[in-house]
Amino acid sequence: MVLSQHLTGSPTEAIVHLHKYHENVKKVKKHLHQTWLMAVVKTNAYGHGVVQISKEAVKAGADRLGVSSVAEGVLLRKEGIRIPIQILGAIPGTLADDAVAYDLIGSISTKEQALAFSKAAVRHRKWGHVHLKIDTGLHRFGVPPEEAHDFLEECRGLPNLYWEGVYTHFSHADDGDWQRTESQYEKFLQTIQALEEKGWAFPVRHAGGSTIMLERQDMYLDMVRPGISLFGYPPAARQRSILDLEPVMEVKTRILQLHDLSAQTSIGYGGSYTCPSRRKIAVVPVGHGDGYARSLSNRGQMIVRGQRAGIVGTISLDQTFLDVTDISGVCEGDEVILIGRQHEEQITAYEVAEWMDSITDEALASLKERIPRVYSDMDTGKENWK
Ligand SMILES: *Cc1c(COP(=O)(O)O)cnc(C)c1O
Repeated sequence: MVLSQHLTGSPTEAIVHLHKYHENVKKVKKHLHQTWLMAVVKTNAYGHGVVQISKEAVKAGADRLGVSSVAEGVLLRKEGIRIPIQILGAIPGTLADDAVAYDLIGSISTKEQALAFSKAAVRHRKWGHVHLKIDTGLHRFGVPPEEAHDFLEECRGLPNLYWEGVYTHFSHADDGDWQRTESQYEKFLQTIQALEEKGWAFPVRHAGGSTIMLERQDMYLDMVRPGISLFGYPPAARQRSILDLEPVMEVKTRILQLHDLSAQTSIGYGGSYTCPSRRKIAVVPVGHGDGYARSLSNRGQMIVRGQRAGIVGTISLDQTFLDVTDISGVCEGDEVILIGRQHEEQITAYEVAEWMDSITDEALASLKERIPRVYSDMDTGKENWK
């Protein structure tokens, strides 16, 4: 269990608006018409909490769930989730048993994986459901297209494997490199066709994540696998107006202490910031130990009393300094927004990611579990500590 504020004494919390996730899933479902939706909830649902988010995805009509590890899949089954769950990462042979026991769909890229899944399926007297992963250019997992047929022939003798699907994952879709993406898609289609001609048919074919879901209906095939966009963050700036998806998570804390510092005082470890004049500096109890990146030192901003305040000095494990000189009436105990809205001001994870020189996936998924997640459901007015 994650310690809540009452136990840790820290006012830092992440509020996860489940109804916003629900609405995002529904908007995406509508946009997809008949195409299946695999809601990707890997990496603890990009930091939002895999159990609560997955339950909401099911309620909102997701057809399947995509996770990165067997452990996440097992957790979801133990929480009573019944819809198909696919492991998108490579499954170590030792975990094939759990994958089969908990009816998780495997992604197969190597003979060893196929063998382990088959053995586990025989042991459990079940069909092991698997998807063949084709590597069309990402070079992370997958069988090269030209080897796919030989690979399957080598696997032909393996008992209790049901090859339900085939998929690939593009390397340059988010960057809008359509030439490369189209060529990877073509390669994928040609591979499927060649396999079909040789008697290998796959009922579920899929290729795209958020970018394809938003921009390329022509590449949907049977299913799409959006992740980050369901949390309100389409991966590319050009996509932000397409579906009006709303950020799901807010991160807040409170001012712990205020200091009035005179000119030339340097603050924090290494004194990376020196007050150019008399400044009012706030200490807020969140730091890189919470997953709030150290690279935000002297760069990022937070919102206090509806105004932006700049981060000054080096962020430490548990504390960050804010320059609140220009915020009138500022007090110890004031609410501070790291991600979210207050009055007219808003900071999104896009902005935080930009300051970090990163992407929203990292800005969100890095937030540690020591920041308690509070699940809020506006429809019922309930907030649940977890
Ligand atoms: C992470 C992932 C996705 C989801 O990607 P988003 O860009 O977050 O939508 C889809 N498919 C695979 C194989 C992934 O690893």
